[in-house]
Amino acid sequence: MKTEVLIIGQGISGTWLSYYLEKNKVDHFVIDQADSQSASRQAGGLINPVTGRNKVKTWLADQLLPFCQTAYQQIGECLQTSVIDTKSIIECFTNSEATALFSRRVNENPQYLEIPSEPPIQLDLFHNCQAVGLIRPAYLVSVQLLLSTWRDRLRALGKIGEYNFDPHEVVKTESGYTYKDIQCKRIFFCDGARIQERSISPAIPLAPTKGEALILKIPDLPPSFVYKNKLTLLPLAEKGYWWVGSSYDWAFEHTKPTSAFKEHTLNALEKWLAIPFEIIEQRAAVRMGTMERRPLVGFDSPEKNWGILNGLGTKGCSLAPYFAYQLVENLLHGSEIDPEASWTRFQ
Ligand SMILES: Cc1cc2nc3c(=O)[nH]c(=O)nc-3n(C[C@H](O)[C@H](O)[C@H](O)COP(=O)(O)OP(=O)(O)OC[C@H]3O[C@@H](n4cnc5c(N)ncnc54)[C@H](O)[C@@H]3O)c2cc1C
Repeated sequence: MKTEVLIIGQGISGTWLSYYLEKNKVDHFVIDQADSQSASRQAGGLINPVTGRNKVKTWLADQLLPFCQTAYQQIGECLQTSVIDTKSIIECFTNSEATALFSRRVNENPQYLEIPSEPPIQLDLFHNCQAVGLIRPAYLVSVQLLLSTWRDRLRALGKIGEYNFDPHEVVKTESGYTYKDIQCKRIFFCDGARIQERSISPAIPLAPTKGEALILKIPDLPPSFVYKNKLTLLPLAEKGYWWVGSSYDWAFEHTKPTSAFKEHTLNALEKWLAIPFEIIEQRAAVRMGTMERRPLVGFDSPEKNWGILNGLGTKGCSLAPYFAYQLVENLLHGSEIDPEASWTRFQ
């Protein structure tokens, strides 16, 4: 089989890359070994315009939010489904200092933060909740739905191989590469944490972190909002079900769920929620980031034979569409990849 581009990986990065290649009529084939433990399949799907205790605007938030809203709506239309929801995030304040701190941030960043005159929820859903702050707009992406419907589309087109890719079996040819029965001009790696299995330059400051989450049943919590304190509670498509997470571990012995996370989260939830909840499931995955918290996007050489979209860290849902678009525009028209994200910063 002959194709222009071979994509390795169909997580959120490979999915968006495949979408923009298809949109530009670039023939491609995807290899992805179905792995329910990959970061994209465990992600909460939240796109949050601010970060941390101080509610600092996230990197590129003003560009990423409108871009993502349109991009996810368009891919949803292409798949005849809806994969993005606009949400407000509610933060509960248990004392006047916390309210005052948030108010100061509202003055600095009114575009994304607000203290509503009337709380939009009943405060007694949470223990000791005296007031609430709103972060808006935020977006909730149905990552599982997006990945599975895009995969079905690739299957229907005969454009996916659902098996392991072994980089040692790639043969360089005059016109590109061959991999088993596939001949292609270029290979794009969207392989997430499995980038560590390939030999890449030691100058690339990879920073894998493990994240854990729980799936809960909380029948009485209104699903029209996302709720946040140190944890984040995200409504799932199935009524009454919630995702709560996540941890951020630099040093981990294995990639499986731990009882320590479960106990710690259970404890925190008991102190936070004043309504009944039940734990349904526990999840864990490794997300690939970089020490400077910027993605890895670009090509190894001016010939653009070998490309990468990786290192999205905790922000895969907002960074993947934006940088997949930049990568494809660079391939086809030579337009610039954001220098902070560009792979060339390590060359
Ligand atoms: C618990 C948790 C919660 C998160 N929550 C959020 C969130 O709310 N919002 C947000 O924006 N981000 C979130 N993230 C981060 C987000 O999940 C990642 O940034 C993103 O999923 C990375 O996507 P990716 O496509 O680059 O990699 P991956 O999701 O790891 O996908 C790589 C794919 O490539 C395949 N693959 C790799 N190598 C091979 C090979 N050799 N052969 C065949 N197939 C291969 C893998 O099977 C996989 O399907 C979260 C992460 C975790 C762990």
